[in-house]
Amino acid sequence: MECKQAKNMDYCNCTYSCSRKGICCECLHYHRKMGELPACYFDAKTERTYDRSVEAYLRARR
Ligand code: SF4
Repeated sequence: MECKQAKNMDYCNCTYSCSRKGICCECLHYHRKMGELPACYFDAKTERTYDRSVEAYLRARR
């Protein structure tokens, strides 16, 4: 299966400088391992804090 990185970039909202950008499988695996969520779970304001914790996600959803 070919990597869909270029297509994934149409949906990626991550503003952090990162080599995993658009490589969703690596991005998700990395943040899951850290007990976090990837950028695409967060609204623009929360995403820019780079706090990818579940707590930050829940706070933003309240
Ligand atoms: S969400 Fe995390 S792993 Fe994914 S591109 Fe952004 S900084 Fe990198």
